[in-house]
Amino acid sequence: MRLLLFDIDGTLIRSSSAGRSVMAYALEKVYGETGPIDTYRMGGKTDRRIIADLLTAVNISPATIEAGLPEAYRLMTEKGAEIFPEREMRVCPGVLELLIALESRPDAVVGLLTGNIESVAPLKLAAAGIEPKQFRLGAYGSDHADRNKLPQLAMKRASELTGCTFIGANTTIIGDTPADILCARAGNATAVAVASGWHAAHTLSDHHPDYLFESFTDTSSVLEALFNLRG
Ligand SMILES: [Mg+2]
Repeated sequence: MRLLLFDIDGTLIRSSSAGRSVMAYALEKVYGETGPIDTYRMGGKTDRRIIADLLTAVNISPATIEAGLPEAYRLMTEKGAEIFPEREMRVCPGVLELLIALESRPDAVVGLLTGNIESVAPLKLAAAGIEPKQFRLGAYGSDHADRNKLPQLAMKRASELTGCTFIGANTTIIGDTPADILCARAGNATAVAVASGWHAAHTLSDHHPDYLFESFTDTSSVLEALFNLRG
């Protein structure tokens, strides 16, 4: 069995600035501040880390930030459910075909490893036309601020769910940023990078992923990479 953990933004879908709008709305409501949200580079970071960075930059204390998180998450979810369906959410090239191919693989457990909070992730996927239920488990930006802590959590959840033991050696982490590659390394997992997000292939290549794709349009090559058949 192999555990496949997909990032969302830039990997499965392109969500324009909808995620940023939703976070700005929630932070303004809860903390009265959004910090430097318009210029902050969110790619590869967890929502929890992004919120901490934005609010720390305007001198809000860690204790105040922590206390407001449940309400901020609630508002992000409420606003996301409202605006994602009307924003342009596009599936990245080849992703639908790849997900269909994975449905018929009894040797794959497909999950999410994303910086999005747990309640927002399925809203984004559904708005882009991807069925969230096909991802059987996830590790999310609401679980930990540090993305590199998420692989262990996802492997543990997948092991509990299926009864199979997942460790780095039978896990693949798929993402569009250098942070996803580092995250795979942190979990001793195979790193599959795709340049369908904001990072060019040559930038991703500098971080030495095990496999690198411009896009996921060549389904059979991508499947070989996901199952690490090149070894
Ligand atoms: Mg991403």
